[in-house]
Amino acid sequence: MERWILHADMDAFYASVEQRDDPRLRGKPVIVGATSPRGVVSAASYEARRFGVHSAMPGFRARQLCPHGVFLAGDMEKYSRVSRDVHRVFAEFTDVIEPLALDEAFLDISGSVALFGPPLTIGRRIKEEVRARTGLAVSVGIAPNKLVAKIACGLSKPDGLLLVTPEEVEPLLAPLPIRKLWGVGPRTEEALLAAGFHTFGDVAGASLAALHRAVGSRAEELMRRARGVDERPVIGERMPKSIGEEATFETDVVDAERISAALTAHAEAVARRARRAGFVGRTVTLKIKLARARGSHPSRSSGLSEPDYPLLSRNKTLRDVTADGALLREVALELWARAGIREPVRLLGVSLSNLQPAPSDGAGPRAGAPPGAPRSPSGQLELFGGGAPVGAPAPAPSAPGRRSGDALGRALDAIEDKFGRGAVRRAVQAPAKITQTDRRKVGEEPDES
Ligand SMILES: [Mg+2]
Repeated sequence: MERWILHADMDAFYASVEQRDDPRLRGKPVIVGATSPRGVVSAASYEARRFGVHSAMPGFRARQLCPHGVFLAGDMEKYSRVSRDVHRVFAEFTDVIEPLALDEAFLDISGSVALFGPPLTIGRRIKEEVRARTGLAVSVGIAPNKLVAKIACGLSKPDGLLLVTPEEVEPLLAPLPIRKLWGVGPRTEEALLAAGFHTFGDVAGASLAALHRAVGSRAEELMRRARGVDERPVIGERMPKSIGEEATFETDVVDAERISAALTAHAEAVARRARRAGFVGRTVTLKIKLARARGSHPSRSSGLSEPDYPLLSRNKTLRDVTADGALLREVALELWARAGIREPVRLLGVSLSNLQPAPSDGAGPRAGAPPGAPRSPSGQLELFGGGAPVGAPAPAPSAPGRRSGDALGRALDAIEDKFGRGAVRRAVQAPAKITQTDRRKVGEEPDES
């Protein structure tokens, strides 16, 4: 499935709402949010922008530039109402929406194409619906990723619609000034210009060494962005931040075998839950609570003194996303080894974060889909997701992509669904005997970390 990200942004939002509601304001420079002496401009109509007024500009400066402008205090309640209508339109085209502001959002429309037509059609329909329901213009940029979609949207304004195909990304970006590159503030811009990098193309084609001399450790990241590479997922509101499982041992544990068994069980459980929810993740976090208290604090409920157990956390971000239990286990054990803990522990937890929807090419149900195993037309459980023939050697667990490993995991899920938990285990897995008092699931809600 091709990945298509849509960035939608209302044009001069607050000012446009005011012009819509008061015909006398149409065609006039309307400036919202700079009525108090210290106020800053929160929106400027296109007529006001012609005078050089823009949002975030101090009010006094806006008045200097545009003394005949119509300065309004603004009505946030009204803008919120309009915003809800706009976001409702977005929600009719996809579930995967990341709101950025009242008038702005990223939409992952990759899965919407089958339902609503090609990306450009979706963009056009969103514009029409927003116009029909609010009387306002929304600009839309569509591209293979967030970074390029946002740039495309900006370039398309006002009332624009711009689709950038993967082949068009580099030629579109190359001539743009580097200050438009996400993550480039005034200081970085200065450093880049001083080193002779003026455009995205300059940065994209630079030698890493030269770029490194100009901006230090950020060189690689900036080069990737200048080339239009951006793998950040669209984070929907209902998406959990992490999926985790942790357990407090009944008795404090030092024994390596029991530690390993606990981490294995947690890793498998986390992977299973991620697959069922239709997520893959990139960051594995190991949580360790040491058994020896370093102090105490009064309990909130009883007022009695409660011991403070040191809580440590170690994490590793992988190159590829995964929902594979064997890999999570491997990483959790590695993090444990690196933590070098020599004293008893009270609690261990494993979680997976940096989540994104699993690719839908057979990698399990999407969020909200009923849990269930992949089935062949005959209704039989498909052990390898229909991919590899049964008996074919599975790729090594560290192979990138890990699609087949995940297929194995899904097959294990299917068998467990049918025959109960523990019916089947990976050969490498130690029996997961954990004595625990309050094993619990973490991450049903976004966590605080
Ligand atoms: Mg806007």
